[in-house]
Amino acid sequence: MINYKLGDKVAVITGGASGIGRACAHTMARSGADVSIWDLDQDAIDDTLKELARYGHRTHGIVVDVADSAAVDQAMADVVGTLGRVDIAVCNAGIGGEASTSGDYTDEGWHQVIGVNLDGVFFTQRAAIRAMRANGGGSIVNMASILGQVGFPTASAYTAAKHGVVGMTQVAAWEHAADGIRVNSVGPAFIRTPLLTARLDEATLQAMAGQHALGRIGTPEEVAELVTWLASDAASFATGTYYPIDGGFLAK
Ligand code: NAD
Repeated sequence: MINYKLGDKVAVITGGASGIGRACAHTMARSGADVSIWDLDQDAIDDTLKELARYGHRTHGIVVDVADSAAVDQAMADVVGTLGRVDIAVCNAGIGGEASTSGDYTDEGWHQVIGVNLDGVFFTQRAAIRAMRANGGGSIVNMASILGQVGFPTASAYTAAKHGVVGMTQVAAWEHAADGIRVNSVGPAFIRTPLLTARLDEATLQAMAGQHALGRIGTPEEVAELVTWLASDAASFATGTYYPIDGGFLAK
């Protein structure tokens, strides 16, 4: 396992109490960062904070709905007040949401997915930029998806949100390079997390595995390695780019 040398850094990870976000919290804390995880459920946050205690760095957790911009701003102020600064933001919280064709998609389902997966990433990115300017820069990693590059039947809102995440990443990278802030997006294919396992049975997951050249579903830890590299100073020339981590999905 790589040590990404984050010893002097404070990381915020939204959706940090499950799946990919929780794996990022582990990889970053293992690499020396102080980590703040944001999520919806206090018990899940507490469980993750207990796991992170093994690395011996400062941790912080807060219940926040990333779709609520005032709550996001308040949470970022809380992190700065508690941990002193923000160097890394992983704007990762997301939901699968309604599965319907474009002709049948409901207003409620559309707004729910866009609210979390697009608005939530924008609000967190904006609050992170404001906090990072105060300490001379940082690295933002926005969680997109393969559906930030291609479409997927029954996922119009999710696909629109993820394409939007890729685009807002490109814009912010150019706007805030002079502030010392790098901004990148990451695009996983199918990863074994509750987002998939809560909705799909094992037979369906195995069928989806065949859509990857590598023939299996990915793990949250494999995504966390890429996210943590992008967050680290080792990725100092990387900004504005979409990084797939998809087992070969997009290569076909
Ligand atoms: P997950 O369900 O395991 O974790 C998502 C976390 O986000 C949960 O802890 C959830 O409580 C939290 N969350 C949801 N809505 C929130 C809100 N409004 N405010 C704060 N927290 C909220 O799922 P995951 O697979 O780890 O997903 C993480 C990200 O990765 C998402 O953006 C998802 O779209 C993306 N992604 C996942 C896959 C996959 O196959 N699992 C593939 C591509 C992209």
